[in-house]
Amino acid sequence: MLMRRRISIILAAVCMAAFCSCSFGGTNEETAQKTEFFAMDTYMSVTAYGEGVQKALELAKDEVQRLDKMWSVTDENSEIYAVNGGGKAAVSGETAQLISFMLDMAKRTGGALEPTLYPVVKAWGFTGGENRVPSGDEIQQLLKNVGYEKVSLSGNTVTLPEGVMLDTGAVGKGYASDKAAQVLKENGVKSALIDLGGNIVLVGRKPDGEDWKIGVRDPDGDGVVGIISASNCAIVTSGAYERNFTAADGTVYGHIIDPKSGAPVDNDILSVTVIASEGRLCDALSTALFVMGKDGAAEHWRTHKDFEMIMLCKDGQAYVTEGIKDRFEADEEHSEMIINVIEG
Ligand code: ADP
Ligand code: MG
Repeated sequence: MLMRRRISIILAAVCMAAFCSCSFGGTNEETAQKTEFFAMDTYMSVTAYGEGVQKALELAKDEVQRLDKMWSVTDENSEIYAVNGGGKAAVSGETAQLISFMLDMAKRTGGALEPTLYPVVKAWGFTGGENRVPSGDEIQQLLKNVGYEKVSLSGNTVTLPEGVMLDTGAVGKGYASDKAAQVLKENGVKSALIDLGGNIVLVGRKPDGEDWKIGVRDPDGDGVVGIISASNCAIVTSGAYERNFTAADGTVYGHIIDPKSGAPVDNDILSVTVIASEGRLCDALSTALFVMGKDGAAEHWRTHKDFEMIMLCKDGQAYVTEGIKDRFEADEEHSEMIINVIEG
């Protein structure tokens, strides 16, 4: 059995944020409460500050686990699994909303985010099964059933042609992080850090009133390359360094696939971090921008301007959009890194 191992992209920084908030002391001293769990095939944690936040944390965790059950592509009892049997299926309003969002984002990104890519993802062994390199013929056959325009959503009814399958893998965690944030806020939490396998949502500010400090992981090594200072927003990173395998010939294949070729993305980007108000937008975009490559991603930002991003590229340089440049700082060990500003 293949055991997937996920390491939170920003674990080190999360610990730092939690530590700093406790170290200010005085009358504002707040206690951090944390819940950790495994869902959506990854490690998750939610940290909240203040009195009596434990109950809210439990509710947020329940919410994420509920969505996982509904949206898992491999769980026979999930709504997505039922839809993937082909034909017509009625889904809950929440699942219909997620599918509608994925279709919108697929359209917006010109199919770089491709919610029907599952048969191809599966053939490479990224969701269940063993990693392998499928033949060109096999990929071409599978690509015949790929294309978001094949999905029909009418109200809460989804219709899929035989062989077409939906996968929420690139968006579900981001969507769930927004829902978790909503649950925390509804239950009185004013300050929290949600980390669903690297999908971050920052609720409010740190208890001391300062911005959270979130590390952007070094795609080539362990530590972080830089720190983002932010509050009240979502931050999501996609990169090929997290889930990948090395084939017999030494080629490393990552888990984000270019829907045009059916092969893992191999372009000029190592990782892309997206900062925006909603986790679901960040999650959908980080995957899609990674597929687009540096120039395509920059162009997408210029067209939409509803997000900011930090791209770490194979040339060893960082490319950051102008709206985040003052909030991103290279870490000491990467002080030599060239940071290019993408202008509108
Ligand atoms: P992670 O889930 O590791 O945080 P992403 O959000 O980038 O990373 O999503 C990657 C997952 O989405 C893959 O594991 C796969 O299930 C699926 N996927 C891969 N390529 C694409 C794509 N181009 N469009 C949509 N989903 C994809
Ligand atoms: Mg994503």
